[in-house]
Amino acid sequence: MKTMIDFPTARTFAIPMATRFRGIDVREGMLIEGPAGWGEFSAFAEYDDRESASWLTAAIEACTVGWPDPVRGRVPINATVPVVEPERAHEIAATSGCRTVKVKVAEGPLAADIERLAAVRDALGPSGAVRCDANGAWDVDTAATVIPALDRAAGGLEYVEQPCPTIDELAAVRRRVDVRIAADESIRRASDPLRVAVAEAADIAVIKCTPLGGVRRALRVAEACGLPCVVSSALETSVGLAAGLALAGALPELDFACGLGTLSLLTSDVVGEARSLRPVDGYLPVAPVPPTPDPELLDRYAIADPARAAWWHDRLARLVEQGRILD
Ligand SMILES: [Mg+2]
Repeated sequence: MKTMIDFPTARTFAIPMATRFRGIDVREGMLIEGPAGWGEFSAFAEYDDRESASWLTAAIEACTVGWPDPVRGRVPINATVPVVEPERAHEIAATSGCRTVKVKVAEGPLAADIERLAAVRDALGPSGAVRCDANGAWDVDTAATVIPALDRAAGGLEYVEQPCPTIDELAAVRRRVDVRIAADESIRRASDPLRVAVAEAADIAVIKCTPLGGVRRALRVAEACGLPCVVSSALETSVGLAAGLALAGALPELDFACGLGTLSLLTSDVVGEARSLRPVDGYLPVAPVPPTPDPELLDRYAIADPARAAWWHDRLARLVEQGRILD
């Protein structure tokens, strides 16, 4: 792909996380300007060049050709309740403005998960949706025992995300419980959703725009797997989140709230307050183009350590030279 991008002028950023998440304290990445606007390249540092290629491709799509036309103007967003005390869980759910809340489970005792889910249901009332995410923590027997108990505690679960690590285990759990199963970690590459669907391992696919190589590729993946999709973020700034919203906005069907309200996990943004993608009343708008970074914020959050900044520029240059941008 000819990109018409001056890659050496791409900007680095490093924004501290509000709380340590996914083992990182600072979210780093690059912002690339092209003829259609800006794209975010923020493949996690441990990813190799092969895995990072789809992230770069998503950034290039955003800043060169832009996104397909959306079929909806706004996207419902879920709030997320981490492993916290029930009182705090209640407060998060009640003040989020979201009608759907995802509750993290399986990191501590079952009794605590049950109390947390009951607190969230109490806060949302009967019309809200409660889902939970086990991040692959259970084996099949544990999942088959625990999920019905969590379903009762939540007054009905919308779905359980990634109860077990592998696709085969998801399929086995799905045969044993009545609650819908969503595959998240099992879907990282474009071929994964097809495997999940063929194995009848999930009712719902959680898809992320950047690891799947951009909006168009992710749309093709969603269509091919034939499952209802939930779009989720990869901890991007508003520039990257806009691509996720473009994907959610362009999906022909969108039956579930999306996990794109993750800006609160960062202490700041590269986009000014007025265009920062923080959910209002449980929704985020679908914009036709990526937001433009604020020059002052770009300066403030540029990676200060010259060696670290060079690492990012070298990574980007290497991927481009190797022709890693997918056609
Ligand atoms: Mg998940």
